[in-house]
Amino acid sequence: MPHIAKRLEEIRATLPEGTTLVAVSKYHPVEAIAEAYACGQRVFGESRAQELLAKREQLPADIEWHFIGHLQRSSVKYIAPFITLIHAVDTPRLLCEINKQAARHQRVIDCLLELHVAAEETKHGFSVADCEAYLDGNEWRELPNVRICGLMCMATNTDDTQRIRSDFHTACECFQRVKQRHFSQAPHFRICSWGMTDDYRIALEEGSTMMRIGSGIFG
Ligand SMILES: *Cc1c(COP(=O)(O)O)cnc(C)c1O
Repeated sequence: MPHIAKRLEEIRATLPEGTTLVAVSKYHPVEAIAEAYACGQRVFGESRAQELLAKREQLPADIEWHFIGHLQRSSVKYIAPFITLIHAVDTPRLLCEINKQAARHQRVIDCLLELHVAAEETKHGFSVADCEAYLDGNEWRELPNVRICGLMCMATNTDDTQRIRSDFHTACECFQRVKQRHFSQAPHFRICSWGMTDDYRIALEEGSTMMRIGSGIFG
């Protein structure tokens, strides 16, 4: 753990102003999170509800927790009271459930729609066409307790940097179309969550405003 502060500093130094670093702490102990917190990091990402709940109890209350992984509808109720941002909303049904649970806590929960742009079949998310078709409809406008703040994606898991760049580029173009069409008067629609440890530099060049970095910080 002595390296956490150093790694965090090095990554922060490469990020442009106006971007947000999500420190992805899944599988790492609360001691590691506390160390990053001591360096001023306040935004942390977790991908399992139970793990998040257990850690949250032991850590300072001013941490902003982001849920970054695949979220089961049955788990929404556990995180609805406190979650700051849900990154990977991959179906209309999940968004409806988040709206319902947010209402129970008199909250509006910020969400991102997950785009499937990678080559792998296994990655979740809306295709670009489905995402745009969904936003062309009215269903989401009738969900007062969720606020769609942008898009999230993961690139293909490959060494081919051209493919990675093209995945992020696809997401970036979708973001711009959707922004223009539905959110031009909505300043909150501004989050492009793409880029992890191995590809965040490419993501930054393709419009990312929020990087989710785990192993690059925590090892
Ligand atoms: C684990 C994870 C990350 C962080 O990955 P690293 O390669 O460790 O930086 C980012 N996003 C999601 C959705 C993840 O599950």
